[in-house]
Amino acid sequence: MFSKILIANRGEIAVRIIRACKEMGICTVAIYSDADSEALHASLADEAFCVGGPLVRDSYLNTAAIITAAKYSGAEAIHPGYGLLSENAEFAELCKENGIVFIGPSPDVIRKMGDKDEARRTMTAAGVPLAPGTEILKNAEEARKEAKSIGYPILLKARSGGGGRGIRPVHSEAEMETAFMSARAEAESAFGDGAVYMEKYLTDVKHVEVQLLRDCFGKTIIIGDRDCSVQRKNQKLIEECPAPTLKEEVRIKMHEAAKKAADAVNYVTVGTVEFLYDGNENFWFMEMNTRLQVEHSVTEMASGIDIVKWQIRTAACQPINLEQQDVNINIHAIECRICAEDPVDFKPGCGTINILHIPGGPGVRFDSAIYQNYTVPPYYDSLLGKLIVSSKTREEALRKMRSALSELVIDGIVQNSELFLDLLSEKEFIDGSYTTSFLNDRGHKK
Ligand code: ADP
Ligand code: ADP
Ligand code: MG
Repeated sequence: MFSKILIANRGEIAVRIIRACKEMGICTVAIYSDADSEALHASLADEAFCVGGPLVRDSYLNTAAIITAAKYSGAEAIHPGYGLLSENAEFAELCKENGIVFIGPSPDVIRKMGDKDEARRTMTAAGVPLAPGTEILKNAEEARKEAKSIGYPILLKARSGGGGRGIRPVHSEAEMETAFMSARAEAESAFGDGAVYMEKYLTDVKHVEVQLLRDCFGKTIIIGDRDCSVQRKNQKLIEECPAPTLKEEVRIKMHEAAKKAADAVNYVTVGTVEFLYDGNENFWFMEMNTRLQVEHSVTEMASGIDIVKWQIRTAACQPINLEQQDVNINIHAIECRICAEDPVDFKPGCGTINILHIPGGPGVRFDSAIYQNYTVPPYYDSLLGKLIVSSKTREEALRKMRSALSELVIDGIVQNSELFLDLLSEKEFIDGSYTTSFLNDRGHKK
């Protein structure tokens, strides 16, 4: 096992990883930017190094400075968290060249799955069901031709997209020319890769994903599924584990498909296979996230399994000594992403938290990096914390979440907790029938 790990991230996830390391007896090294000198992750770690200015490209993406900090401190491994460098194959490669373990799959696997077009080909070969779609589109004319045969509406998706960005719906042929040109330009400026492809825009579907863990010896453990259909701008806001309306026979097939996906690339460590589900018998592969996800914590609450510790162990090439039958998800967990953003228009905010009260009690968890008088800097992701509850039944979990949300106080900055109280009392949420258009449709109803 590693004796020292550098955490190349910030915020709640850096704190989460530091906690796991402490419990495992591993020393921790934090990195921070000039804007984060007061950040919790920097003070909780055993050592901390400033790696550059406030902008992520100068600090949290400054690979040379991060590798230097790892070497100087003697860290044997780097945990990238999520976002930032977590799906950056070049960085994983750079770690390897410097004799440092990247806590994640190999650079090759990251590349294979990160390229959404290649991932589709790999999944087709592995026999995993996919939404109708195309290879990379050469021009608007080809896009028009393909869309005609797939049928509108379609989505133009950036090959290198992520974080809900680089996805553009097109509803008719008349829109295609402009949509194609701007999708390509946007993809080029956001991801440095203008390649776009097309997928059928599936409607009335749920986002259901499967959490898995796989070791160097090819053993795979499926740690249940999650429903992450409550989204704004294709980004998740609420997650629950298990997915509430997934039919048992489909659940088995979906878990098998996720295992096939992981086997196909000889995956190692933790990963998630994302699907769209029609509520009946059909589901389609969307992408594989080759990293720890934001919502891993809701699965931890439902399963009692510490996913971060297993990620570290499998990265150190330890065999998984869990058996599939030991994974029992017989309680229900719900997570709300508390973000520093306006609950109505989702505009991000920043400022100083002058009153903070965090709810507690059995089955209540708040993963965050905030504290009283902490100033939220304007440079980073808007996630303030994740409020997670678990209970014997979904109904009890819903009640517990409402109670926890009404207790939560984060004053001084704009934040979205009141939105969740509204969403949780909607009929579609209560009966579990909500789809990925839940939030949008609701906006139109009002
Ligand atoms: P998850 O699949 O774990 O829910 P998200 O899609 O919410 O992940 O992304 C995790 C984090 O990474 C978020 O902070 C998100 O803003 C960021 N992120 C992921 N991919 C990108 C990307 N390509 N560009 C910018 N930010 C990204
Ligand atoms: P990202 O890498 O940004 O997470 P995904 O491919 O996972 O991209 O898609 C993000 C979200 O966009 C999904 O959770 C889903 O709500 C929506 N989406 C993606 N592909 C489709 C599709 N073919 N049909 C309908 N919705 C989709
Ligand atoms: Mg996704």
